[in-house]
Amino acid sequence: MTPFRGNFTQQEAIPEAAIAAAGEVMRGGRLHRYNTDGDEPSVVSRLERAYADYQGASYCLACASGGYAMSLALRAAGVAPGDNVLTNGFTLAPVPGAIASVGANPVLVDITDDLVIDLDDLRSKITSSGARVLLLSNMRGHLCDMDALVALLDASGVLLLEDCAHTMGARWNGRLSGSFGLAGCFSTQTYKHLNSGEGGLLTSDNAEFMARAIVLSGSYMLYERHGAAPPREIFDTIRLETPNMSGRMDNLRAAILLPQLAALDENIARWNARYDLLASHLADIPGVVLPNRHRSEFYVGSSIQFRLPWAEPGAARAFVDANKALGVELKWFGDDNPVGYTSNHHSWTYIEPQQLAKTDRLLAGLFDMRIPLTFTLGDCEHIARIIAHTLSQMSMDGAA
Ligand SMILES: *Cc1c(COP(=O)(O)O)cnc(C)c1O
Repeated sequence: MTPFRGNFTQQEAIPEAAIAAAGEVMRGGRLHRYNTDGDEPSVVSRLERAYADYQGASYCLACASGGYAMSLALRAAGVAPGDNVLTNGFTLAPVPGAIASVGANPVLVDITDDLVIDLDDLRSKITSSGARVLLLSNMRGHLCDMDALVALLDASGVLLLEDCAHTMGARWNGRLSGSFGLAGCFSTQTYKHLNSGEGGLLTSDNAEFMARAIVLSGSYMLYERHGAAPPREIFDTIRLETPNMSGRMDNLRAAILLPQLAALDENIARWNARYDLLASHLADIPGVVLPNRHRSEFYVGSSIQFRLPWAEPGAARAFVDANKALGVELKWFGDDNPVGYTSNHHSWTYIEPQQLAKTDRLLAGLFDMRIPLTFTLGDCEHIARIIAHTLSQMSMDGAA
């Protein structure tokens, strides 16, 4: 088997138009979002307008990171220290981290075999925790039945904040992820769907919520210079009672993002071509289980997940090692000792330990692979052959 030589963390180059726009910002010297020339909108304001339009949202705030956008959303939604906040038991560390940053307690909800929040467990934890907010993590780009979720939350009076770090551009029944609740939180960190190194976007249709978020982000009371902000009078009531917690985006990053946003839908099609090819090959390998995708879900396949429900920890580790030896980098979420980023709730020892038997059983056999756009369709074929090969070797070893 020829090893694969591609790099799983190599994103595409920043487009030339974005490099040119960044050069222009640097030559002008006005990098701070409020350092404008007369009445012209800053590049950050233009990005906010463009992203609000893309998302079909009334308001948008650009900020320092996806994690920061989530912590602003929690605070602007009125979450106070000591409150319980519901979230998925399987997510990335910045999600419980955002909840901890406002002094609140994450209440973890089990996930289903299809890697989405378990609505039955959610229903029972809404009752047992008394939480008023769900920070839903669309982890690894999987959407739950959003209609059923919204109905459940509406019936229980629970506010929805969506973590769309992996679902920027994804849809449920044609409606964009991030537009189902009070706010959508997005990341423009290098490994997400737009790349400015670091960055975050927060969208909402709620004027008072967005006014609070803007002041929190460090507006220095210059909120009238925002690109997609509520009217001035909304700020009058909240401006002095809302602290300034600087986490603004700068014009350089916004300049890099604007041309990428114009190419987002085209890139989504490229991701999905790679994802669908990998998924069709992986589905043919005996012993491999892919999560089901509901027909109402339009996903963005920037990473792929599959399960080997039969794999004991030793076999799972051997499988990861065999793939690594052939150049294929897989993340196994069941490892007791997290390698790299943490997505297993047992790793977050700053939160109250929680029993999530169903999630634990799933994570024990769950594998994940990034799909950077630098990979060709031929690369995806090659990767699928390597995974099939390492699995066939394993069952042969088992038989021997
Ligand atoms: C990356 C990520 C975020 C936010 O990330 P930042 O690095 O703070 O921009 C949030 N949720 C999930 C699930 C993520 O993977």
